[in-house]
Amino acid sequence: APAARPPHVAMMVTPGMGHLIPLAELAKRLASRHGVTTTLITFASTASATQRAFLASLPPSVASLHLPPVDLSDLPQGSAIETLMSEETARSVGALTEVLTRLRETTRLVAFVTDLFGMDSFDAASSAGVERKYLFYPTNLHALTLMLHLPELDTSIPGEFRDLAEPVRLPGCVPIPGPDILAPLQDKANPCYSWMLHHAARCREADAILVNSFDAVEPDVAAVLRREEPGRPAVYNVGPLILTESKATGAGDRATAPAPSRAACLEWLDQQPAKSVIFVSFGSGGALPTKQMRELALGLELSGQRFLWVVRSPSDEGTVSDNYYDAESKKDPFIFLPEGFVERTKDRGFLVSSWAPQIEVLAHEATGGFLTHCGWNSTLESLVHGVPMVAWPLYAEQHQNAVMLAEGVGAVIRVPEPKEKEAIAAVVKELMAGEGRGAMVRSVVAELQKAGLQGLRDGGAATAALDEVANNGLLARTSPLARGTA
Ligand code: UDP
Repeated sequence: APAARPPHVAMMVTPGMGHLIPLAELAKRLASRHGVTTTLITFASTASATQRAFLASLPPSVASLHLPPVDLSDLPQGSAIETLMSEETARSVGALTEVLTRLRETTRLVAFVTDLFGMDSFDAASSAGVERKYLFYPTNLHALTLMLHLPELDTSIPGEFRDLAEPVRLPGCVPIPGPDILAPLQDKANPCYSWMLHHAARCREADAILVNSFDAVEPDVAAVLRREEPGRPAVYNVGPLILTESKATGAGDRATAPAPSRAACLEWLDQQPAKSVIFVSFGSGGALPTKQMRELALGLELSGQRFLWVVRSPSDEGTVSDNYYDAESKKDPFIFLPEGFVERTKDRGFLVSSWAPQIEVLAHEATGGFLTHCGWNSTLESLVHGVPMVAWPLYAEQHQNAVMLAEGVGAVIRVPEPKEKEAIAAVVKELMAGEGRGAMVRSVVAELQKAGLQGLRDGGAATAALDEVANNGLLARTSPLARGTA
């Protein structure tokens, strides 16, 4: 009988492993705590080997399908990724409506969830008659606050953010200098700005907003958003959601599963002293311009520290590389390194091409630091494993994450401008062994690790927030969603 079927949630995931991984994790938590099954809906454009392998590894409670390919060839060359994701969503509304309509026939579909670039998919959810619509915000409360205020900032700031003399001050937030504000907001003439404004306005259509953050990492803004505000959906901090074992819900699976072959970089880490290695990686899409890549290599060499570096072919546009849609590096990235670098550092450096098992690296006892682009998933993974960070932001909201983490809680040290080898070596050494800033960052991160892990336990804040979403809204057919914890 239909009533016996488990409640089902459809989640539409815009491109990027950084969106897919936390949504899949949310799905797993809904399954284990609330008996909810999920269908993850992805785009054909991102059906990379990495993504396929990831989707195939998910437990049976989390199914997946991808939407038919969408033609984006009419968009100008070099369109921003935010524009591509938004266009792809808007052009998929018809196909998504059909998918949701079919899911309503075959499952007990109770809710639809999408991430921040997928706001137009709410139209499909409405057309298909899905009762509840949620926004999953894969970054943090600072970025969400900026989006919630964007319509008014658009009017009150006539020029560009990057030209502002004063930092942008928002309730509960660390002041963010104009040039560090979200990259897609930096040029009002670019279509991606209009798209962001569009998403900002539509955010408020959500029944509630789930954010992949936790109070300790941005306490003041958490307090602000916990308060009810007319016209704004309730905001729930459900993080830190990071990748966990796919079979984590079945006790004992880990012990009985055949031992998978271990990545060479982990074997290398096994040979290194505790907390002696800095892990260097720029997320699923980040790549450096050739010149910066060379400075980084020389800086790591000069620091004298052990390092494990995920090397990508350089992107000489200086922004996101074409790696974003497919995390395999296109060319052999090692040929771009300074002459003799590999040979000179072979005793204390290990290079990986394109992709490393990041969570296992961060969890390894030999890892003592992380030089990161401050993508939010990487940041959370680092905090959950108690690994202090050097911030080298590249694009999206990474610059404002770096400011917030450095000036707010103090969980990172930023690489000063210009990013030259001496400066890079100095911050790497300070993070790993310094007695000043480095020691402070290491102790702050140890505290944040405790808070983050505590939140995910029974009775913890993230668990309670998800329970509230489930019990008061998502799974309750009649009662309106109660407002509560941020
Ligand atoms: N990741 C990984 N190996 C890599 C690079 C990235 O496993 O070599 C994972 C990383 O653990 C994180 C995600 O990809 O979960 C990247 O997300 P993030 O938000 O940090 O950055 P984005 O890719 O969105 O820039």
